[in-house]
Amino acid sequence: SKVLVSGANGYIAMWVIRDLLEHGYSVRGTVRSAQKGEYISKYFAEYGSKLELVVVEDITKEGAFDEAVNGVDAIAHIASPVYTTGDMVGPAVKGTIGILQSALRYGQSIKRIVYTSSGSAVIREVDQPTTFTEEDWNLKAVDAFKEQGENASNIVKYRSSKVLAEQGWSLVHRYVLVLFDVSSLPRLGAWSFVKEHHHEISWDLTVVNPTFVFGPAIHEVANPTSLNFSARLFYNHVADPAKSDEVAKQSLSNTVYTWIDVRDLGEAHRRALETPEAGGERIIASAGPWSWQNFIDTVNSLDPPPRLSKPLPKGNPGVDSQHSCMHYFDNTKSQRILGMKYRSMAEMTRDTFADYEARGW
Ligand code: NDP
Repeated sequence: SKVLVSGANGYIAMWVIRDLLEHGYSVRGTVRSAQKGEYISKYFAEYGSKLELVVVEDITKEGAFDEAVNGVDAIAHIASPVYTTGDMVGPAVKGTIGILQSALRYGQSIKRIVYTSSGSAVIREVDQPTTFTEEDWNLKAVDAFKEQGENASNIVKYRSSKVLAEQGWSLVHRYVLVLFDVSSLPRLGAWSFVKEHHHEISWDLTVVNPTFVFGPAIHEVANPTSLNFSARLFYNHVADPAKSDEVAKQSLSNTVYTWIDVRDLGEAHRRALETPEAGGERIIASAGPWSWQNFIDTVNSLDPPPRLSKPLPKGNPGVDSQHSCMHYFDNTKSQRILGMKYRSMAEMTRDTFADYEARGW
């Protein structure tokens, strides 16, 4: 069967496509320009006509995906701005509702749609260690966005973009549509769209909420600075001594979150697409907590050590700051429904540094 994957040239999407192709699926990927598709076609050349690419120039345009959804059996909607400088909320919400709308109108063959939301749509700022589940929603971010509008920080904008694209505006938040001139945004998010149209649709929805995604890159990357947001953070903190020693000085315990290997996330998407029980479910995808020092210690214990162009950072060896993690995720649902098993920190770190080494970084 054939799966439409939006934002095919991205870090996560490339691994989703690879996992699908390796498991016999056909894939139709969307990219914003033909040029962005060239690398993908070369990378997956061995799969021939099993992979086709279509250009969807502007996902915020009404009907942008009308042709792309034609004849596919499922959709993985992954395209969304991640900590970009421009508008994040608009493309996230309009892109998501747009692809669902196209699926409603022209996707008669579609059985399942998987939307890549985020742990950012789940967690909220807390002052004591908290374990979050699929029941949690980051409405605090939307509150802040409601108050600050375009002046909000990038964190608030990104987190709001993921909550609003997944859930839509709750009644309390809706007056924002008027206040901040975002009245062109759809009022619905993925879940409320499905609820409103459940009598008319042939498909069901599964939402995957990944936490920080790390691991080797297979998308087009020229140098460390052109990595996507999460993989770039990893490189800066774990492979670049100048930056990571600065972080060590500033106290590493401030940066403790949870992570998932990008290859596991690719697999989680395929399982979300093919597992009947995943229909209608919101599923957190997370391996566990980390601190930058955990990864630095891990890379320094690799045998043989990776050979990079720069010396390995040391940070504050052995300082375990995981105890200061504030945002834990309960990942039992992903194990129960999707059968997920997560790669270890050691495996991810080893393979990521092997990737850097192969690139001559
Ligand atoms: P990338 O930046 O590598 O990929 C983002 C993809 O979305 C690219 O294909 C990009 O296209 C496309 N995109 C971005 N903005 C727009 C826009 N305005 N219009 C159309 N397409 C756009 O990021 P990731 O692979 O890391 O992220 C993919 C998804 O996973 C996102 O939905 C993100 O929210 C989610 N996610 C990521 C996490 C992470 O740690 N990486 C964690 C949790 C969720 P182009 O190259 O043309 O800009």
